[in-house]
Amino acid sequence: MKLENVLKIEENAIHKVHEILSASNIKGKLLFITDPLIDGLYGTTVRDQLAQLVNLKSESVDNNSIAYSMSVAERVIATDVDYIVGLGGGKVLDVCKYAAYVSKRPFISIPTTMANDGIASPIAVLKRKDGKPKSLGCVKPTIIIIDTVLIKDSPIQFIKAGIGDTISNHMALMDWDFACTRNQDKMNGFAYLMSRASLDALMRTKYDTICPEFINVLANSLVLSGIAMDFAGSSRPVSGSEHLFSHALDYYCEQNNLHGIQVALGTVAVLKLLGLEYSEVLNYLKRFEVDINPKHLGISKEDFVLCMQKATTMRNNRYTYLHETNLETDVLSKLYDNLMEEL
Ligand SMILES: [Zn+2]
Repeated sequence: MKLENVLKIEENAIHKVHEILSASNIKGKLLFITDPLIDGLYGTTVRDQLAQLVNLKSESVDNNSIAYSMSVAERVIATDVDYIVGLGGGKVLDVCKYAAYVSKRPFISIPTTMANDGIASPIAVLKRKDGKPKSLGCVKPTIIIIDTVLIKDSPIQFIKAGIGDTISNHMALMDWDFACTRNQDKMNGFAYLMSRASLDALMRTKYDTICPEFINVLANSLVLSGIAMDFAGSSRPVSGSEHLFSHALDYYCEQNNLHGIQVALGTVAVLKLLGLEYSEVLNYLKRFEVDINPKHLGISKEDFVLCMQKATTMRNNRYTYLHETNLETDVLSKLYDNLMEEL
């Protein structure tokens, strides 16, 4: 039987897992996956509710490699598990998402952070054998349960990263439009509108602080961005030059920053490099105290220049403004210096 898609974003949703899943007629055998930290915080609350519905098996995740996710899929298949439930941040959820895809089981996702639009996307980022990240196409979660109070209590930097990832839709959509005018890509109008709606909902929010009501808006935006990717069949609606820059940072630099913060920096940096309007985006980031100053993020001038120059090599078939922009070292060095002063 195919499960209906369900999205619940509300206060104290973590206490309604039993109610939500029984309404979807979930029964049989279920694998519950979380990590030790989150298990200590919310594991018992969720596990107790699941145990009333299903034959429950639990697993604690300690890494996010492709090999580990494949091994989870193998155990799911070998032991006839019907569903996978993931409780945690991006690493746990990506392991579950890919394992669900490989094992062809529905994935029920309970995110504990809002750091990026991966919460509803059909893409998992896992580690290769050499430790480098790899984006893998899979399927989006069938059921998503987001507790806005729980998210409000999560580390603030993760929420700011979620804001940054949504804001980056601005640059991604401009790059997509640009690629189409150069006959380097095809437009999917509906996916474009979904990504735009995700961005606009966040930009137009009346809230000035990170309260549960604002978390609700942010969660809806991130989910909508994920669905836009699913509809387009790629990350194109939410990923342009700013994401290529972030991928280069992940690939070439030691310094680890949150993806959403890096793409927000990428958005402002590319807009400024192109001489385009960026004050609206920057003011919004400042309103929620999202710090994207490269120096504060530990990104040196050399790394910044290198990653802007390497950005266009990070993905095939992702044509952007950067492909036709002067990326000489002195231009980018000056950009870095200006950003340091302004951000
Ligand atoms: Zn992103």
